[in-house]
Amino acid sequence: MKSIRYLFRIGNGPSSSHTIGPYRICRYIKAHYPKAIHVCVTLYGSFALTGRGHGTDKTITETLKPLTSKIIFDYKSKVDHPNTMKCDIHMEDGSVETLMAVSPGGGSIRLNGEKSAPEPEIYPEKNFSEIKEVCKQNNWDLVEFVRQREGDEIFDYLDTVYDTMMEEIDRGLMTSGLLPGKLHVPRRAKDFLVSKYSDESETGNSFRLMLAYAFAAAEENAAGGVVVTAPTCGSCGVLPSVLKFYKSKYKKSRKDVINTLAVAGIIGNCIKYNASLSGAEAGCQAEIGSACSMAAAAYAYMKQLDIHGIECAAEVAMEHSLGLTCDPVGGYVIIPCIERNGMAAIRAVAAGRLAEYANVSSSVSFDDVVQTMYRTGKDMKKAYRETGKGGLAEELKKSKK
Ligand code: SF4
Repeated sequence: MKSIRYLFRIGNGPSSSHTIGPYRICRYIKAHYPKAIHVCVTLYGSFALTGRGHGTDKTITETLKPLTSKIIFDYKSKVDHPNTMKCDIHMEDGSVETLMAVSPGGGSIRLNGEKSAPEPEIYPEKNFSEIKEVCKQNNWDLVEFVRQREGDEIFDYLDTVYDTMMEEIDRGLMTSGLLPGKLHVPRRAKDFLVSKYSDESETGNSFRLMLAYAFAAAEENAAGGVVVTAPTCGSCGVLPSVLKFYKSKYKKSRKDVINTLAVAGIIGNCIKYNASLSGAEAGCQAEIGSACSMAAAAYAYMKQLDIHGIECAAEVAMEHSLGLTCDPVGGYVIIPCIERNGMAAIRAVAAGRLAEYANVSSSVSFDDVVQTMYRTGKDMKKAYRETGKGGLAEELKKSKK
């Protein structure tokens, strides 16, 4: 596995696979083809089907400037990965070079058939069972495990990640008006903060605040603001919401929260390297399900559960996200995505509590449920994997006819 710094990427929304990935591919072209004058980009699969709503075309055109560009949406050709783009790079001497690129999720990219992204592998452990074994042998907790593998520098990076997460929430809470795009959906995060229900029970208030924080980050993402992939842009509100709420409730220090991010990062990494973080590849269970799992682990760590309790929380959160389809209406990361962030934040805490009350590891291991999620994603009909052609996307299209 690679560093968790490549899990928590900082960039503009609304989609880690559909905007941050293409942004990085275009930057690569500009850096590695200095004689290029024009790029013809063909988008396949989910890129073609939801690229307009996600802003993929705009990101490519803007990032390639001053090079000129043309974008072709190919809805029919079959490709190995649903987020594939072909870049025909025209040089000033008239020659053309072709770069095949894939954006597998979370802002990672793979070029010309690479099996994995070029960043170095720094974790020899392949899954959570191996991590648990190493921790047991050395008497490490998960934070010490991350420190041993990545060095102290990773905590400096996580410090920046934490600030960016809190900034995305703060901006979202201060902003109102309509989100961009044809759906005309209003922002709601700010309303939750001043809701008339604010004097209700403690549980009700917890829900209201967690919803406000998750919506704030997800609305910022939908508006194209700077967010952290946690583990994707579409699911960026879940973990920050849980961190912000419980930092305040349990009076945790900044250092505690940075350590919590390391724990959540290890859970996300296990999913990334053993399954998928891409809605186009495995449905929303790979995005919101993964975010829920990471946030549940974060909650469990803040409640001082041991490694088995953390595993149990992450497992329960993913187990009860299985089958979640990706069906963004109009191709925008708005419906159902924004509400899904809020609901997943609350589910993450419920999963953490279940682990806490049960006080035992689940009989299903985290590694098992990750494999199940991946298999379930592969079994899903294509319409439910970020094509804008199934589920709510299809239903709302019909009702508008
Ligand atoms: S439905 Fe889920 S996976 Fe699909 S775009 Fe929205 S948040 Fe991402």
